[in-house]
Amino acid sequence: MAKIEVTLTKGYFLKYPFLPDALKYISELGLTLEDLSYDTLGNEVIRRVKEIFDAVINSLPIPPSGDDPDIEVLSYLVALIVLKIIGDRSLIEKFVVVLSKKYSEYINVEENNFLLYLATTFGWKIAYGSEGKYMMFFIDYLENIPEYRGRWKLVHRQVSKGWVYLEKIELLRLIESGLKKYMAKQISNVNISEVQLPDPVYTLVEEISMVWNRKVKEYEKVRSRYLKKGEKYYPPCIRSIIEDLKNGRNLSHSARFALASFLLNIGMDVEEVLGIFRFSPDFREDLARYQIEHIAGLRGSKTKYVTYKCDSMRSLGLCYWECEGISHPLQYYYKAVRGMLPNVKKRI
Ligand code: SF4
Repeated sequence: MAKIEVTLTKGYFLKYPFLPDALKYISELGLTLEDLSYDTLGNEVIRRVKEIFDAVINSLPIPPSGDDPDIEVLSYLVALIVLKIIGDRSLIEKFVVVLSKKYSEYINVEENNFLLYLATTFGWKIAYGSEGKYMMFFIDYLENIPEYRGRWKLVHRQVSKGWVYLEKIELLRLIESGLKKYMAKQISNVNISEVQLPDPVYTLVEEISMVWNRKVKEYEKVRSRYLKKGEKYYPPCIRSIIEDLKNGRNLSHSARFALASFLLNIGMDVEEVLGIFRFSPDFREDLARYQIEHIAGLRGSKTKYVTYKCDSMRSLGLCYWECEGISHPLQYYYKAVRGMLPNVKKRI
């Protein structure tokens, strides 16, 4: 397979501070964390990291960077350190989701060679295929598809000798998903302890941790207010989706649909369901409201949607249980509220 050659200028480091070449460039400048204590560079980096976390925690767009790649790459590095020290899985998930969306806006308009370079940076086996398509080794493909349904299923793909053929738009979707994993790995590879942090970074960690904890408490309040109506009656599949949401995991499209349609069908209103989704790592009120109103039948075809049946939940990878005598999550709920809690067995 031919090696992908790309000439990376500092402009790329400004847009993509996660690139190994960007991190190498900073390490070659000989800058250390101690340097953040003294000069204007340090102040600028701390300011930028705060700005990034403010956007991540409050689900706002990340403000544009300045024009200095050194500050952007250093800020990215410091952000990784902050996340490693705080060690909160939900915050990490939120960070990688929000930043991968921001970087994807630039990636989506890059040349083909850059896309292949990026994919090989993630360790994928990938190459140009025929007819303007790309081909990706099936293992990398399966590890990075957003969900195993619809057009992403291997049976619906053109596959030859282990290579899956992709349109550019599909590759871009896979790159966004690969980028999240790549950044999460960078965070887990950070090797530093609190005692090694210079004062400004230590203070930064404390501030961000405090703001994040406050946000988590706020969410918990909202969540318990809306779910108090009887979470104990929800079937395991729905409770598991709520647990994922609580842990800051980014839900698949089908998990969002299953949860929203279930909650709407047991009598919650749009505001209440919106409150529960608010903690989603990629929450955008306008989009979420639109989708929930659509499922509630307040928009478009005016059809109120019903949750998937148990069979579909299983094939979508949303159900790992056998609920005796139950073929639909709503049936489970209605039985449970009438005091006939179905027997549940976990499937192996
Ligand atoms: S069997 Fe049905 S109700 Fe029970 S967990 Fe699975 S999908 Fe949910």
